[in-house]
Amino acid sequence: MKKIRVRFAPSPTGPLHIGGVRTALYNYLLARKEGGTFILRIEDTDRTRFVTGAEAYIKEALSWFGMVPEEGPDQGGAYGPYRQSERKERYREQVQMLLEKGKAYRAFDTPEEIAAMKEAWQAKGVHSPKYDAVTRQSMRNSLTLSPSEVEELVASGAPHVVRLLVDPGREVAFEDEIRGEVRFSTSELDDKVLLKGDGMPTYHLANVVDDYHMKITHVIRGEEWLSSTPHHVLLYEAFGWRAEMPVFAHLPLILKPSGKGKLSKRDGAKFGFPVFPMDWEAEDGTHYLGFREAGFLPSAVINFLAFLGWNPGGEQEIFTMEELVEVFTPQNIVKSGARFDYDKALWFNQQHIMKCTVEELYEMVKDRVQSAYGVLDAPYVKEIIPLMQERIKTLNEFVPSTRFFFTEDWAYEAKMIRKKWKEDSPRHLKALKDVLQGLDPFEAPAIEAMVRDFIQENALSFGAIMPLLRIGLTGTMKGPDLYKSMEIIGRERSIQRLERALEAFPAIKAGGQHPG
Ligand code: GLU
Repeated sequence: MKKIRVRFAPSPTGPLHIGGVRTALYNYLLARKEGGTFILRIEDTDRTRFVTGAEAYIKEALSWFGMVPEEGPDQGGAYGPYRQSERKERYREQVQMLLEKGKAYRAFDTPEEIAAMKEAWQAKGVHSPKYDAVTRQSMRNSLTLSPSEVEELVASGAPHVVRLLVDPGREVAFEDEIRGEVRFSTSELDDKVLLKGDGMPTYHLANVVDDYHMKITHVIRGEEWLSSTPHHVLLYEAFGWRAEMPVFAHLPLILKPSGKGKLSKRDGAKFGFPVFPMDWEAEDGTHYLGFREAGFLPSAVINFLAFLGWNPGGEQEIFTMEELVEVFTPQNIVKSGARFDYDKALWFNQQHIMKCTVEELYEMVKDRVQSAYGVLDAPYVKEIIPLMQERIKTLNEFVPSTRFFFTEDWAYEAKMIRKKWKEDSPRHLKALKDVLQGLDPFEAPAIEAMVRDFIQENALSFGAIMPLLRIGLTGTMKGPDLYKSMEIIGRERSIQRLERALEAFPAIKAGGQHPG
């Protein structure tokens, strides 16, 4: 069997959309699973859509996800260069070959002439006229002009394109791994431009020439390219490469959360979730949020994306990249569109956070802690992490939800205090503070036992004292295990906070501001 070679072939026209990441992922998984080669090819021939920084963004995103290509612009390889703008000569040679074989022709028509042609056909009732076997006959091209006229025009440098000569009236079919047999009639197709007026190849030409020369065995790409594939098949035929044509697999669309229509970059801003792997500042000043900056683990985004349009069957949903490599089969990719569900992305992230070791999570949150407080006490942060692991959905939640471990600068949840602060409360809270003060060692199981005994001995209810204790110590009702939190905060600070609460709560109860 041939060694599998797959390519991810993005155009540097902006930041990599999450759909592009999924395309890269499926290519990567197949290559890894089959011991094949994963190639990065930059398709940058459309200079009008070129965006500075996009290629660097794409590479950074791939490396954040751990999908490093074996061949590519930075890695090199036996089939380079891997940037299409550096392969112009090759495309020109290949087009020359098609011209000589009579499979392509030169066309000198101006955009105005083409527009006029289309209008004239529309007036005759043709719905969407195109440059094809019927219309090309009335146009200025090397099929209608005499050889000497063509020669003169070319010699004088007349602007022109080279088009693929599509023979009408043929049924052609190819096999798509996901969709099965796809049939089309050549009568439906236009004579696609292969080489543009500026000498640059079009996507179709460059893509096919490169896939052939780079010995690509599988083309795995988004569904939006399915309609281009008939032309690609004709190109393989025209070159005489049909026997070496790669296997095609067109991935289902990623749909909006509503399930209606394709997920777009504007949906991210509209619904407030990321649709890009990393932040991106567009040239017009628009800021696009990235999964990375939203506090996602790359492994969680990968897991989430893997399941957008594929599943291994069975119950297991949480997979590492290595595990995905094991179970990935393109046969399990579905045909129908996959709905983007941000809550599901958060769930995957939470699951991946829970699977991390303390050391791993520490590495992920330490910069956030450092920048929030200006200091970083590693052993202290590592004590807090196990408490928070099940409680945070994103890394960004770590700092806001652990404030009370690091600072005294937080406000009390006043509503609960007003509800719970009763006549007896000061006496009880003070008594509890006093017993806690004498507790040694100040550790969670002992604190818990002591609080329970205290409640029982004083015939109190949990509801009468626990909320006050929690808010006094942390400011809020939401939070991790209180006894463990107290152990980490330590006796001294816990006692100080309770003293502060004893002063602040009556004022809050009375409706005033707490002294802070
Ligand atoms: N350059 C195309 C893109 O931006 C590649 C499509 C393909 O994989 O053939 O997606």
